[in-house]
Amino acid sequence: AKDAGRGVARYFSSELQSEQDDRVRLEGDIRAAIDSRQFHLAFQPLVSAKTQKLVGFEALIRWNHPKRGFVPPNVFIPVAEECGLMGPLGEFVVDEACRAAAQWPEPITVALNISPKQIILPSLPNTVSQALGRYKIPGNRIELEVTEGVFLGDNNQTLDVLSRLRALGVGIALDDFGTGYSSIGYLNKAVFHKLKIDGSFVREAGTRPENVAIIQSIVQLAKSFRMNVTAEGVETAEDFERMRDLGVDTIQGYLFGRPLSFDRANQMVTGLASK
Ligand code: C2E
Ligand code: CA
Ligand code: CA
Ligand code: CA
Repeated sequence: AKDAGRGVARYFSSELQSEQDDRVRLEGDIRAAIDSRQFHLAFQPLVSAKTQKLVGFEALIRWNHPKRGFVPPNVFIPVAEECGLMGPLGEFVVDEACRAAAQWPEPITVALNISPKQIILPSLPNTVSQALGRYKIPGNRIELEVTEGVFLGDNNQTLDVLSRLRALGVGIALDDFGTGYSSIGYLNKAVFHKLKIDGSFVREAGTRPENVAIIQSIVQLAKSFRMNVTAEGVETAEDFERMRDLGVDTIQGYLFGRPLSFDRANQMVTGLASK
């Protein structure tokens, strides 16, 4: 039994070591990948709940690693955040999202995700305004999505960065709303124009009546602050009808489209234009 215990300890420590090694390798790979342009954005359609017409896309980062294959953002974003690479990676995302928005007509907007580590970079408003200038688009053609996690650090600094972004005309959405510790106290600061209801609430709303109650109160809360509401993770016609009937403005999810390549997204936009 004693030997077995030692074996377990040894097993765990070598397991930890290899996890550590893997992280270090991943970090090196991210640096190289930015330089060799292994990242690209995928664009998931958002439609109006009322008309079911395309209103925009959410840009989602994709990494096709030459050896590992597809590495999901949930795996490499946390590593990039920890090793200080969110700056360059985030700039890439801002640039590509603006480039896409510039090729599409109004009212198509492009939403992009900003990690909490990016929000505390005082250079972010500059990065965004330079990209808007580079592609000659007004701020209202893009939207930044932040999570409640941005309120974990220095909140005055966060609110300052967010209001400087708002001053550029950029929309700011509070993403994954309802999953974190509540940031209801920040809703009256007038920095957010939209709440995004997390897909977990949406998908379980059919089987859990308490989720319907939560969504109802999120919609009410949003309306009282004149914010829009998007439901993500809408996979079925029932999900769609339920969200529409609850007063959600915008719908995102596999029912209306998976994240698409720029070319496929572009086909959706031009198909819309030719109708
Ligand atoms: P998120 O911002 O909440 O993005 C929504 C995620 O839900 C995406 O996963 C999307 O592909 C997925 N999704 C969309 N519709 C459905 C649906 O109907 N059903 C289901 N089951 N899933 C759906 P993805 O692309 O793997 O991204 C995961 C997370 O990684 C994102 O969550 C976001 O937090 C982060 N992320 C993605 N791209 C970026 C980026 O460019 N920058 C930063 N900072 N974070 C990013
Ligand atoms: Ca998002
Ligand atoms: Ca989300
Ligand atoms: Ca999420």
